[in-house]
Amino acid sequence: MQVFYSSTRGGEKGVPSSRAILNGLAGDGGLYVPDSFPALEVSFDDLARMDYRDLAYEVMKLFLTDFTEEELRSCINHAYDSKFDVPEIAPLRKADGAYFLELFHGKTIAFKDMALSILPYLMTTAARKNKISNRICILTATSGDTGKAAMAGFADVPGTEIIVFFPKDGVSPVQKRQMVTQKGKNTHVVAITGNFDDAQTGVKKMFGDRQLAEDASAKEIQFSSANSINVGRLVPQAAYYVYAYAQLIRSGAIKAGDSINITVPTGNFGNILAAYYAKQIGLPVKKLICASNQNNVLTDFFHTGIYDRNRPFILTTSPSMDILVSSNLERLIYQSCGRDAEKTAAFMKQLRETGRYEITDKMKAELGDFVAEFSSEDEVAAAIRKVYEDEHYVIDPHTAVAASVYFRYREESGDETPTVIASTASPYKFARAVLHAIDAGKFDSMTDEEQFDALHEVSGVKIPNAIEEIRTAPVRHKTVSSVEDMQKTVREMLGI
Ligand SMILES: *Cc1c(COP(=O)(O)O)cnc(C)c1O
Repeated sequence: MQVFYSSTRGGEKGVPSSRAILNGLAGDGGLYVPDSFPALEVSFDDLARMDYRDLAYEVMKLFLTDFTEEELRSCINHAYDSKFDVPEIAPLRKADGAYFLELFHGKTIAFKDMALSILPYLMTTAARKNKISNRICILTATSGDTGKAAMAGFADVPGTEIIVFFPKDGVSPVQKRQMVTQKGKNTHVVAITGNFDDAQTGVKKMFGDRQLAEDASAKEIQFSSANSINVGRLVPQAAYYVYAYAQLIRSGAIKAGDSINITVPTGNFGNILAAYYAKQIGLPVKKLICASNQNNVLTDFFHTGIYDRNRPFILTTSPSMDILVSSNLERLIYQSCGRDAEKTAAFMKQLRETGRYEITDKMKAELGDFVAEFSSEDEVAAAIRKVYEDEHYVIDPHTAVAASVYFRYREESGDETPTVIASTASPYKFARAVLHAIDAGKFDSMTDEEQFDALHEVSGVKIPNAIEEIRTAPVRHKTVSSVEDMQKTVREMLGI
């Protein structure tokens, strides 16, 4: 079955997947959604016998129907190889009666690697299919994590360049070191003298600048984005939920056809939407549990049907979830109003203009698969401590948001369905917060360096390469630019 994509706002229809990946966002500002959901073609028992790559192929081929088998398998094989530090790619670990799906074994030790290690290959393949011979240049503004994961994915991928802008004084010391030491001849990093919003606005301006696009095109370069709304990020994420299910069968924890719950620590709503897509193609999921930190816009939305971003922005120990506008929610809104693009566009207009919209009771009734709750900072620390004390297993603060929400849900609902928790970052990425939760008196006074060694002792988990690298790697990127000069910097870097 061929699957085509439409914009959630009605401006584009019948778009093949390769085009949707190249474009990222639809021309009308909407998000690409599949016109229908295909169904898994192999049995769960067969899936349970497959390795990550073969299983990912079975899931991704359903959505990316204009890629040939050879093309798609080549993308998958290039992405999910020894750059992951375990052969399972995404292992499942049981602790405190839940199954933690470890999505942090890639290059930057966070779950965004799962999608960003394959996106460059999907994009260059899509360009070839569409007879585009230009080099693809990714422009990205980052508040810390996404830019690094995107660079790690695109580094030295033939036919691509990547330029990342980060706020000079707005990222953590570890994040900054990770970026300025990035390897790869095609990677470019720019510290800007402004905040993340300035960087983001500057990048958006460049995407809309016709002269820049023309001048780039004359040099056979075209710009693209690696944003989390890209279909090429969403589809690879659906694969690991099916893989988690297959691992549960393999280990004997469930039988093919049994239901599971999935709990996801949520920010931009991309990861949990992928779990929802996995359900649509036939994964037996009972509840999708949407876990937020104190920026609990989504919890309120699922409880009341009102999305309201007008509230204080709270800085938490799970910074990748400090988000007040979850862009991927637009895809669920579209689905829940019966795929009505006009209605979806109207809600998004309200959100832009007033920061708020309210869905109808009928739409709300369509969201019954979801449970939503949030965790306070104290609860997050308590969950890290509990899992450590019970199981000697150390989880990061993002994962702890989900664990805390899930433990409370299980107790209050009595729902004992086997539950997968998306474990989205290595504790090493947030060593200070993790050790503070485990024993503040003992660890708080240590330097960052000492903490990595302490975490090694506490967890028994080897210090990942990503951490070893930043300890020793030389600084390669020293460019600093003002917000006004961002475009000038891009032109210089690309020779246009
Ligand atoms: C990005 C991120 C999240 C949130 O994922 P969304 O797809 O944006 O909901 C959660 N945890 C970590 C560690 C992340 O980097």
